[in-house]
Amino acid sequence: MPWAILWELLLPPICLGCERLLRSAAIRGLCSQCAPLCPPLAADLRSLGGITACYAYDGPLARALQQLKYGGAAGWAGPLGRLLAAEPLLRAAGDGRRWDAVVAIPRQRDRRRRYGLDHARLLRHHALAHAGVPTRERVALVRVRDRPAQVDLNAAARRDNMHGVFAVAQPAKIAGRRVLVLDDVTTTGATLRAARDALLGAGAAEVGALALLRTPP
Ligand SMILES: [Zn+2]
Repeated sequence: MPWAILWELLLPPICLGCERLLRSAAIRGLCSQCAPLCPPLAADLRSLGGITACYAYDGPLARALQQLKYGGAAGWAGPLGRLLAAEPLLRAAGDGRRWDAVVAIPRQRDRRRRYGLDHARLLRHHALAHAGVPTRERVALVRVRDRPAQVDLNAAARRDNMHGVFAVAQPAKIAGRRVLVLDDVTTTGATLRAARDALLGAGAAEVGALALLRTPP
């Protein structure tokens, strides 16, 4: 996505909270005043049901993500990706072994058309670029079917709703590999779990699941 990179090169790095200019692009998305307002998730909320998340879906981070997802503000993918780049799980599993591939949850086709971008892919791209990991997509998840909206469903219904939604585009590249699947927000974890099932079903040896934000339970 060269236009997304161009976008960030043209825009100086700004704080996700106060939108002030950051002195250095090496600062992870939040200035020293805003960083304490967006603390990383506590240990008991960080990893739930095999899904790791970094921050709560709240405050400036939720606002920036909404502007990226629904307002077409692609410039937020850079600062949000910088936050994700600081997450150790992005590079390697708990045992320290690096992932063979990092894949993003693909956005539904109708939403991609309506909002003009695929936010999780953009986040993936910026996070990997800032983490110094190659960004080329060697493996992709695809949506076999779009699913009805999840918003009004309880956890069990969400799980059923997501069953069979994803497939792997190049299963031969997955066999025996260690894969991390990445999304912007997790709520019940149904989407990431469905993606993990598809990757394991395609022969992946190990699948990790990471979201930038978690909706508070
Ligand atoms: Zn700030």
